[in-house]
Amino acid sequence: ETFFVDLPKVELHAHLNGSLSPATMLQLKRYHADSGLEDKTNAFFDEFQIGAGDSRNLTDCFQVFSIAHSLTSTPETLALATSLTLQEFQDDGCCYLELRSTPRDTPQMSKLQYIETLVQAIQKSSLHLTMITRLIVSINRRSPLEEAEQIADLAIEYYKKYPDVIVGIELSGDPMAGVFQEFVPALSKAKEAGLKVTLHCGEVCNPEEVMAMLKFKPDRIGHGICIHPKYGGTEETWSTLCKLKIPVEVCLTSNVNTKSVPDYDSHHFKLLYDAEIPVIICTDDKGVFATSLSREYQICVNTFSLTSYQTARLALNACQYVFADNVRKTLNDKLLNFIDKNS
Ligand code: IMP
Repeated sequence: ETFFVDLPKVELHAHLNGSLSPATMLQLKRYHADSGLEDKTNAFFDEFQIGAGDSRNLTDCFQVFSIAHSLTSTPETLALATSLTLQEFQDDGCCYLELRSTPRDTPQMSKLQYIETLVQAIQKSSLHLTMITRLIVSINRRSPLEEAEQIADLAIEYYKKYPDVIVGIELSGDPMAGVFQEFVPALSKAKEAGLKVTLHCGEVCNPEEVMAMLKFKPDRIGHGICIHPKYGGTEETWSTLCKLKIPVEVCLTSNVNTKSVPDYDSHHFKLLYDAEIPVIICTDDKGVFATSLSREYQICVNTFSLTSYQTARLALNACQYVFADNVRKTLNDKLLNFIDKNS
């Protein structure tokens, strides 16, 4: 339906290397071929998408990112992947995107060059796109602490240099790996420097970690599955979230396709929504999960029978939780204008 594409949407949870579409991956492969770069993706190119009914689960999904990583290991391919992905989000009716990505050292670039390349690609795209884009720097919870500290320091350095591009820091990666508490010093440092923080929280059942994360008071959390007692949380985790009302970035298809929730109907979106906890519909990895933001809105509205008023409110509310405080009013006005014209 075109309504969901036309609706101005904000995307607050999108991992760059999980967001590469088949078309973008093909362009990257072509770039590799044309410039004589080694391309090792042939054997497992088809394995990148985890669609409905795929037999793989959340743990398996962490292996597929290496396919995308092998296509974005030089500054040129990383920049190309970024600009193509931004264009796709805009074409899908996204008016504001907070892209997130994990800086990595490759044979062709350092973590510093990785961030620099992303910043430059975002700035360059802003010259021809109407969509506003900001960057959240990711820390993978599988990484050693020195690496996490190094990434936090780089995020702070680049936030000072490009406050109009970098807005936050986040913790992601395989939820079965690493210990949240150990990343607190790095995350706190970034928070104190002015960066906003979002945490992947409750992707698997771990109430102690969920409590520690909520007590850290992140600006937003991602997924938030195992927080309600019905989903592997406790009375305490749920009541704490209800009290703090931390906005949750919800990724319906991602959670269904990784089997983190059994199906759309039983997705915890409804629990959060009914408890008046702010929810923001997001894609997570639109390439891996073969989805789009407009599709996620459509699925949500159909599954939970939201009225058009409720749908518009959902998109409007999301504007309040963007990390770039200086664009909130612009986004809000855009949504109000759309609602005005369409009701
Ligand atoms: P990148 O940070 O741009 O390289 O995007 C891919 C990375 O995002 C993966 O290697 C993971 O660390 C992270 N990621 C993507 N999807 C998920 C998820 O559903 N849960 C946790 N981490 C994720």
